[in-house]
Amino acid sequence: MASESPNIEQSEDQPALETIVSLAKRRGFVYPSAEIYGGFAASYDYGPLGVEIKRQIRDLWWQSMVREREDIVGIEAAIITNPRVWEASGHLDVFSDPLIDCLKCNARIRADHLEGNQCPECGAEDQFTEAREFNLMLRTQVGPVEDDSATAYLRPETAQGMFINFENVQTTTRKRLPFGIAQIGKSFRNEITTKQFIFRTREFEQMEMEFFCRPEESLEWHSYWKKERLRWYYRLGIRSENLRMRDHDAEELSHYSSGTSDIEVRYRWGWGELEGIAHRGDYDLSQHSSHSGKKLTYFDPDTNEHIVPHVIEPAAGVDRILLTLLIDAYNEETTANGETRTVLKLAPEVAPAEIAVLPLSRNERLVPTAKKIHDLIRPHFRSQYDDAQSIGRRYRRQDEIGTPLAVTVDFDTLDDDAVTIRDRDTMEQIRVPINKINESIANRLAELTPHVPEMDEINV
Ligand code: ATP
Repeated sequence: MASESPNIEQSEDQPALETIVSLAKRRGFVYPSAEIYGGFAASYDYGPLGVEIKRQIRDLWWQSMVREREDIVGIEAAIITNPRVWEASGHLDVFSDPLIDCLKCNARIRADHLEGNQCPECGAEDQFTEAREFNLMLRTQVGPVEDDSATAYLRPETAQGMFINFENVQTTTRKRLPFGIAQIGKSFRNEITTKQFIFRTREFEQMEMEFFCRPEESLEWHSYWKKERLRWYYRLGIRSENLRMRDHDAEELSHYSSGTSDIEVRYRWGWGELEGIAHRGDYDLSQHSSHSGKKLTYFDPDTNEHIVPHVIEPAAGVDRILLTLLIDAYNEETTANGETRTVLKLAPEVAPAEIAVLPLSRNERLVPTAKKIHDLIRPHFRSQYDDAQSIGRRYRRQDEIGTPLAVTVDFDTLDDDAVTIRDRDTMEQIRVPINKINESIANRLAELTPHVPEMDEINV
């Protein structure tokens, strides 16, 4: 067996964003989109490892928001829908960012992103146009005639899908208040500032849930969802010191919101929003009711009254969570024999693979045995098989893509029907019999899964 020495030193600092961008491309998490044509601003394609993490993020969200609950159901609404939806929601009028141009270099900047009075591109001071509002919705034409009546929009959020289907879902599921409707899907915004890799892109994926409740219970539910959503990020293994809850000031609130708290992450460039938890009041149902002429109320069988429920909305972005996981999990360590190794300390549930099966070499007796062992494992765990290059390099590769465990098949395996399981973080190795392999892997992965605090242990 190749022996490795345990780590003696590890960097505490966050990696530079370029380090993450380069790792993402080199290992197949995220590629620049249309790279062979020189790329396309703020567009990215996800590679074989990136799609695995995204799928895990979506599944873990769906699991905790829909499948494990009695009070929430899911839907999938159309991306392009009747433009009147965006009139009613307020997006046509007020979904905009204040835009200014630098008079010296013509750079276009979001006024609310300006720090001080200097142009971030050329450094000129106080030389800007007046701010004007720039609508963020991406427009398209539907049908064969290109006139104004054919204008439609790519949805800028998934939330409206839930509001316009409130009546349908309520009638078909017969849910009583409080209940929620959840959706995962792509949204589009013609963002002006798109730096920081996949943190802000024009096409991105959202996971949103609209929780309808009695108005008098809405503050309580807002506080419940703040805690519950924070717990979910602990489950993903994001370090608690890198997470915080921040309440919006009155002037910061979106047009629909009567109170919003953001779950924020500490990045190198400052704290940034990971998820917004908004109290939307009765804004959306009332708007759609008056614009459509359909009554969107809930009949309360206890009081015999029709009420307009209030809404609490946790809204998260899949791409931003993926970026956060890569940054948060990234470590460079110096081992006792002076080598540096890069390790992504991802929680097993969000690692692209839970386990790698590695024969010690491409020896003709080891390879078929290793493949047989892989066949035992793969129905139960997300796994990879790799026999290219030296075992040391293959360990490094698995460390770098965050695989928590590796099963090594060596010459002793042929005699003792046992394999070695190597731990990514401690590099410790234990020997386990092949007939107990899945049980051993499951136990070890459970030990590596982050502890999630109970609701009453969370202070926000
Ligand atoms: P920001 O202030 O960063 O523009 P926002 O407050 O407009 O975000 P919301 O409308 O609350 O964002 O959207 C909910 C979530 O969707 C965000 O917390 C984020 O994770 C994700 N999201 C929003 N816009 C983008 C984008 N352009 N690219 C990637 N993710 C996004």
